[in-house]
Amino acid sequence: MPLVLVILGRQGSGKGTQAALLSKRYGVVHISTGDMLRASVAAGTELGLRAKAVIDAGNLVGDDIMIGIVDERLSADDIGVHGVVLDGFPRTTAQADALAEILGQSGPDLAINLDVPIAEVTERMLARGRDDDTEEAISRRLELYEAETAPLLAWFETRGCLAVVDGLGTEGEVLARISAAIDALP
Ligand code: AMP
Repeated sequence: MPLVLVILGRQGSGKGTQAALLSKRYGVVHISTGDMLRASVAAGTELGLRAKAVIDAGNLVGDDIMIGIVDERLSADDIGVHGVVLDGFPRTTAQADALAEILGQSGPDLAINLDVPIAEVTERMLARGRDDDTEEAISRRLELYEAETAPLLAWFETRGCLAVVDGLGTEGEVLARISAAIDALP
């Protein structure tokens, strides 16, 4: 089985940027659940129509929906051939449990937590100015991150596949730190 990576971190920690760089460097397929949802919103699909209000409020789309989307995407042939970097999934313990089931025994090779302080991610999000980057939605997302997603760090650590990486610095510096963790894998 090719490389299976998960990239974790607060919104605004640079997950999307680093996942794209990892996809180039290691040839893995970049799956961003946020991008998939935004594409559904743009296409006006039923999922998109339902998800838009949830995303704009900074809330989490339901586990069943997200697990269904990811399960389907991971079963496509390209993943088995090239491997994957998951960006934005899992975000809850239920999603992590589902991922473990989808991947089976093999599990992810590495979960990378991009560590960036709250003050810094808030500034970055306000600067990037996405539709859902209002002050209310940002603070709601940060709150949900602490409540729902931060517990996943322990979840991955227990399974012996967590790498915590300092997310401050240039894109190149952060990429070098992540690559060092990946290259150290057995
Ligand atoms: P992102 O681009 O990863 O910041 O995701 C943007 C928004 O999409 C999030 O604030 C959530 O509303 C929704 N979203 C993306 N991934 C997930 C997920 N795994 N579970 C629940 N909601 C998600």
